[in-house]
Amino acid sequence: MKELVVISGKGGTGKTSLTASFAYLAGENTILADYDVDASDLHILLEPKIKKTYQFYGGKKANIIKEKCIGCAKCQEICRFDAVKNVDDKFEINKIDCEGCGYCYRICPTDAIEFKDNLSGEWYISKSRFSSTLIFAKLDIAEENSGKLVTEIKEVARNLANENNKDLLISDGAPGIGCPVIASLSNANYILIVTEPSLSGFHDLKRILELVKHFGYSAGCIINKYDINKKITKEIEIFSHNNELEIIGKIPYSDSFPKSLVLKQTVVEFDKSDIGKTVENCWGKLQSKL
Ligand code: SF4
Ligand code: SF4
Repeated sequence: MKELVVISGKGGTGKTSLTASFAYLAGENTILADYDVDASDLHILLEPKIKKTYQFYGGKKANIIKEKCIGCAKCQEICRFDAVKNVDDKFEINKIDCEGCGYCYRICPTDAIEFKDNLSGEWYISKSRFSSTLIFAKLDIAEENSGKLVTEIKEVARNLANENNKDLLISDGAPGIGCPVIASLSNANYILIVTEPSLSGFHDLKRILELVKHFGYSAGCIINKYDINKKITKEIEIFSHNNELEIIGKIPYSDSFPKSLVLKQTVVEFDKSDIGKTVENCWGKLQSKL
């Protein structure tokens, strides 16, 4: 089994639209995973039927048992995150502000603070409208440990692919260069970076490639909307050449992308001529890398 992970340093490059198109072209003998657990959206295009739901516990949070609290305020004094509030002379902990350090739990003189695993989100095994299996997750608002959740669903996706003799795992990687994207990359066979010719797009390409190279992964790049700024596209091409980053394809700007999203279609379903063919060519080249 081979894993292709699609990433981009910044949002809005067309990463998820292209991942969904590759999922469509790959067909049912594929496992799909969405590692963008903070704002997953691959499922919007793939309209999956959820088969199983699992809970994700991302860490611990403190909670005051009111009946045991004598109101000494020690927990409020030591909390560095200002998570302990005094509401009408009753102490309580704001779940969003609590960072789960456990200090208050240790110093409470009456054992009035419990420190329990925190339900932070859910993840799902589902069947996409292409009949392939899609694993995706939803982290609750303001919850942390997205890297841990990515690691959890990645392990599930890889195990499912191996157990079911699937040749390919296509993954929509987490954004940025932090812990979730590092977790997205692990054990990947090929990394596809989707970029665009803007100053921020080029800057983020450099940052993400540094990360990819640091971990020693093979990578290629698609320049989406390459014709909106041909000067920066040229600079990206020179940069890619100098850094052994293969250009898998260049896709011109097209309103087929937003139009297909409105219809909840992939761009290769929506536009079977120009853009569809260009994306298909990129897919053909990617397959040869896997
Ligand atoms: S330290 Fe314990 S007893 Fe004191 S205010 Fe906090 S919860 Fe209540
Ligand atoms: S666990 Fe840490 S962050 Fe949370 S309320 Fe207690 S002291 Fe504050």
